[in-house]
Amino acid sequence: MSFESLGLSDSILDAIIKKGYTTPSPIQEKAIPQILERNDVLASAQTGTGKTAGFTLPLLQILNQGEQPKNRPVRALILTPTRELAAQVYENVKEYSQFTDLRSTVIFGGVNANPQIKTLRRGVDVLVATPGRLLDLYNQKVFTLSKIEIFVLDEADRMLDMGFSRDINKIIQLLPSRRQNLMFSATFSKEIKRLAGGILHNPIAVEATPENTTAEKVIQRAYKVDKGQKPALTIKLIEEGDWNQVLIFTRTKHKANRLSEQLVKKGISSAAIHGNKSQGARTKALAGFKNGSIRVLVATDIAARGLDIPLLPHVINFELPNVPEDYVHRIGRTGRAGANGEAISLVSVDELEYFEGIEKLLGQKLPTDIVEGFEPTETAPPKTEKKPHSRGGGGGQKRSNKNPFRRRSNR
Ligand code: AMP
Repeated sequence: MSFESLGLSDSILDAIIKKGYTTPSPIQEKAIPQILERNDVLASAQTGTGKTAGFTLPLLQILNQGEQPKNRPVRALILTPTRELAAQVYENVKEYSQFTDLRSTVIFGGVNANPQIKTLRRGVDVLVATPGRLLDLYNQKVFTLSKIEIFVLDEADRMLDMGFSRDINKIIQLLPSRRQNLMFSATFSKEIKRLAGGILHNPIAVEATPENTTAEKVIQRAYKVDKGQKPALTIKLIEEGDWNQVLIFTRTKHKANRLSEQLVKKGISSAAIHGNKSQGARTKALAGFKNGSIRVLVATDIAARGLDIPLLPHVINFELPNVPEDYVHRIGRTGRAGANGEAISLVSVDELEYFEGIEKLLGQKLPTDIVEGFEPTETAPPKTEKKPHSRGGGGGQKRSNKNPFRRRSNR
């Protein structure tokens, strides 16, 4: 299946080519033709499935057909629960519309509204917004919603979790009744179904489960760095990469706490989860991580087990596990649609032995690199006979032959 065969036009296809996508993800394959047919769509898809392009590409194509109205009223409204998601969706809209004449912008709370108002007054075709700021600026009569042709409700389940039910209902009342509706949600509770019933007309249901995230989807990288430089390097990677949902692993509870505190001090929202934390604290941290209010989750291996952590684009091994099998569990947490998840290991000289143990288990060499400004200066301690541990203390547990990498990866 190719993007061409889904019915997308040249100006949209050019943007896809520029992005480097070659094949549509399952949700894109299913949703794009339905949206182009102007059907309402109810999609079960979570982050990582390529859902954003799934609704953005056809939406842009529809708006790009025919004459643009002169005064540029908002014709497509994309509602998202969080600022992070709004910003991310807007980035996608901008990229995918770069070869069209369409204008777009994003509005969310917590920042000065004046620049947002200025842009909106000039007129935009596509508006990405969080509910609160949307209602706020609407009430100030900055724009009209009476010309909306397409309404997208993204991450509807998170919207309800975050208490936006009333706002959504208010917003729906402001839209013209003749419009196309697209709703995305990772889960389908009774409340979500009720919400869908009130918004969508004869929707086509489409579904996509996240792609499997085994080795071939994960880019593995290791950076050699001094132990003491690891926090600074972690901060640099997160900030310069503009990473939003980052899972970081440490070996000890103490280190998890400490690193989390260091990140918070630098303005990166973070929480630590480990065995000493109450279930309540862990659940809260995880919920914050999932809803985007916590950007970084720092976890020990044991704490991360059994937690329903979503698939993430970025995992950092702040400290290598002393049990090589744990590395496989850790990086199994990353992955995203069509693209590669990234697992980065920070390796200090005292961990080289662990690193070799991991490479041996994987049956492959991992690419190592040095980040400018973080060149390691520490030298290796004299070699000891100590081998990396195996789980189970002195039990000498056999290494599992069921190693997904050896079987699946040729990287
Ligand atoms: P989303 O599920 O919309 O958050 O998208 C997850 C990631 O997949 C984003 O980084 C997209 O840029 C990427 N992506 C979306 N569609 C494709 C595709 N067809 N091929 C490769 N990567 C994609």
